[in-house]
Amino acid sequence: EKRNPGEKEFLQAVYEVLESLIPVVEKRPDLVEAGIIDRIVEPERQIIFRVPWVDDNGKVQVNRGFRVQFNSAIGPYKGGIRLHPSVCASVIKFLGFEQIFKNSLTGLPIGGGKGGSDFDPKGKSDGEVMRFCQSFMTELCKHIGADTDVPAGDIGTGAREIGYMFGQYKRIRNEFTGVLTGKGLSYGGSLARTEATGYGLCYYTSEMIKCMKNETFAGKTVVISGSGNVAIYATEKATELGGKVVALSDSNGYVYDPNGINLDVVKQIKEVERGRIKEYVNRVQGAEYHEGCSGIWTIKCDIALPCATQNEINEESAKALVANGVFAVAEGANMPSTPEAIAVFQNAGVLFGPAKAANAGGVATSALEMSQNSERLSWTFEEVDAKLKNIMTNIFHNSYNAAKEYGLEGNLVAGANIAGFLKVADAMKWQGIAY
Ligand code: NDP
Repeated sequence: EKRNPGEKEFLQAVYEVLESLIPVVEKRPDLVEAGIIDRIVEPERQIIFRVPWVDDNGKVQVNRGFRVQFNSAIGPYKGGIRLHPSVCASVIKFLGFEQIFKNSLTGLPIGGGKGGSDFDPKGKSDGEVMRFCQSFMTELCKHIGADTDVPAGDIGTGAREIGYMFGQYKRIRNEFTGVLTGKGLSYGGSLARTEATGYGLCYYTSEMIKCMKNETFAGKTVVISGSGNVAIYATEKATELGGKVVALSDSNGYVYDPNGINLDVVKQIKEVERGRIKEYVNRVQGAEYHEGCSGIWTIKCDIALPCATQNEINEESAKALVANGVFAVAEGANMPSTPEAIAVFQNAGVLFGPAKAANAGGVATSALEMSQNSERLSWTFEEVDAKLKNIMTNIFHNSYNAAKEYGLEGNLVAGANIAGFLKVADAMKWQGIAY
């Protein structure tokens, strides 16, 4: 805490991981001797920079850019770029820290990093977004590269933003390489990357409920928060697997549709018109809109998939979900449940899949995009989707088995932290301490 004053999200993420590692530390004194715990909580490098740009009225605006290169023990830094007014050093550090373990869990050779800016793309014109992205990349391009650090999308950064950033990188560096993932299909993007986090979340959840409760999505009522990239494709896959998704949200409020969300309407509003979820009730009969996003957790459901942002489920919301009979919760967003909420779920015997494991499908598919860029080939949708499914299934089993091995059977939070940690820790140990 003294080293990272005021960084509450970062400290929250570190505490959760370190608590899970207590049995590992007891069993593996060699890792403590190699100083792994002290080293892993310190980013290898943090870059903070000024991002000036000119708005449509000719006025100069200044935002702050971040890139945290947290850990490169098992591969080049990899992690998204978040564009949201709440972005600060603490948020980027928590995301970068979690990314180390998530990336390790995918089984692919990628290290952990994260970046972003306090720029808010909402309400900005395409021209403003482009000028911001170009200015952001003008500095960032000095620090990244296809074999060094490969950023991707996150909140506020979709195909449009990645396109502008890629264009600027190419212009400055005069090289066409896989320096970013989440690219458009015509210039090196991977099929199924758009769907990957949401689909992957459902593959993980399916495996979790099958193996631990002999259940499936079929006939289950599902509540999903958010209405961005992760929420939309989680809705698509959950519906395809037989679930009925009855609610979605944004930071203003949520919609409840007892007949099951009509995803074509949502895609039109969010992906084409860049509108608000509220608009849904003007187009679909029988749906209701409620102001305030946390009310979504009072809706009765069997499975809850938080896919908006950090700390969106607190203790009270968790209790409401449990009282309404939820039997499984899996995190599509990063750290959407507070530590108190996680305790409520675990004490009530609710199956709980943590973000690091459950939402790793996005970054896994980004790594598959890197592979395709390296060999200058494109794989089919089916090929990528099959690999994604296989990766998510393995993540569940590896986490489950790690928890069991360390006497914590059924605790998927501990399992994900332990399994993700061990691979990175061993790599750090064998690579020696750099003087
Ligand atoms: P998008 O920008 O596409 O969508 C974000 C959604 O969450 C929007 O509906 C947004 O509503 C809502 N939201 C954002 N901030 C808040 C807030 N403070 N309070 C309430 N709602 C909020 O982002 P993604 O779907 O890509 O990301 C969602 C989550 O998933 C994030 O935690 C992200 O880190 C995580 N994630 C994303 C991956 C990806 O591949 N995209 C991969 C792994 C994790 P509004 O429009 O009102 O802001």
